[in-house]
Amino acid sequence: MNKVGSPSRKVATDGADARLAGGRLTIDLDALVANWTALAKLSAPAKTGAVVKSDAYGCGLAHVVLALAEAGCDRFFVALPEEGVMARKAAPAAEIFVLNGIFPQSVATVAEARLIPVLSSVEEIILWAEYWQKRGGRRPCALHVDTGMNRMGLSIEEALAFARDPTRRDTITPILVMSHLACADEPAHPLNRQQIDRFSSVVSDFPGVEASLANSAGVFFGPECHFDLTRPGIALYGGEAVVGAPNPMRPVVTCESRILQIRRVAAGETVSYGATQTLERDTLVATCSSGYSDGYHRALSGSGVDQRKLGTPAAFGFVGGKQVPVLGRVTMDLVMFDVTELVDDAVQPGDHIQLFGPDIALDDVARAAGTIGYELLTSLGQRYHRRYLQPVRTV
Ligand SMILES: *Cc1c(COP(=O)(O)O)cnc(C)c1O
Repeated sequence: MNKVGSPSRKVATDGADARLAGGRLTIDLDALVANWTALAKLSAPAKTGAVVKSDAYGCGLAHVVLALAEAGCDRFFVALPEEGVMARKAAPAAEIFVLNGIFPQSVATVAEARLIPVLSSVEEIILWAEYWQKRGGRRPCALHVDTGMNRMGLSIEEALAFARDPTRRDTITPILVMSHLACADEPAHPLNRQQIDRFSSVVSDFPGVEASLANSAGVFFGPECHFDLTRPGIALYGGEAVVGAPNPMRPVVTCESRILQIRRVAAGETVSYGATQTLERDTLVATCSSGYSDGYHRALSGSGVDQRKLGTPAAFGFVGGKQVPVLGRVTMDLVMFDVTELVDDAVQPGDHIQLFGPDIALDDVARAAGTIGYELLTSLGQRYHRRYLQPVRTV
């Protein structure tokens, strides 16, 4: 069996009942903190924040914010106002940036929770300015400048016009100017250089305002990308930031599925929907209690889905010291593994097979599904039992 954590450490739990759940997530907060510390070292002298959007990439926003705040992180990035409100409870004194900005219905919530909206259009700047004009005060905000992603952000011309017009500048208080890299996971891509140059040309017009460009991959790109503050997300959670480079991060999430049955199936029989996989030998099949509704994508199937025709190999699980391949299609609540190679009685119903974690890299599973670790982590869903290694305060 996989050893995750040592029994001496306290374990906080969350989610579904441990005895009943089909799947189990073990989240190693020590590894998370070690990853943040390593990224902070790489980023220095720039400061290092943490991106905790989408429930901290599926790891549990409150637990993650508490652990990182305790480690010294005091800048957090969320996507949505409600994520910001949750982060605020866990870190009362931190700067919490709302990446998706504000709209008329959300501005009051953002203001009342002392969140810092990342404004990325002239309309948003006006909305924030008018909200505070009525109430007296100029609350901090961040400005997002588009340098080539073409998704969010003021154009460079809009940002410079704002910076150079004292009457407009006076209506809000930007404390951060930021942009986002489109291709940092491919360090050789020419757009990286262009975005760094474009961003530098804007930053010089915002003296005294912190500047931030780098996501996880940007941290690895090097100092010219770091500016004053880096904003790693995926690397904190153990994911691969740079495509094709060795991943130096510690795995944070171990995802396991409970074995319900081990059945002997004769050579020539088929397994799962569509009868896509015909067994070439008598096979021991472990049927496990999670599936695509638990974020174990259908595209991980052993055969019979379109992705397989593209030549990506099926996913593997890990159990009894061995990699075991997925057999046939992944179904909604069940997935089958070929455990024929295991020694007799190595696994029993009730045991767990690791879907990804220390023995099966998150990103290898993601590749087998034709996707990325980000999507795998953020689609795990609500049916898992969750254990948090290392003591956790509740909020
Ligand atoms: C999600 C996000 C990040 C973090 O990116 P990673 O690749 O996960 O490190 C940083 N900045 C912005 C604007 C984001 O949307």
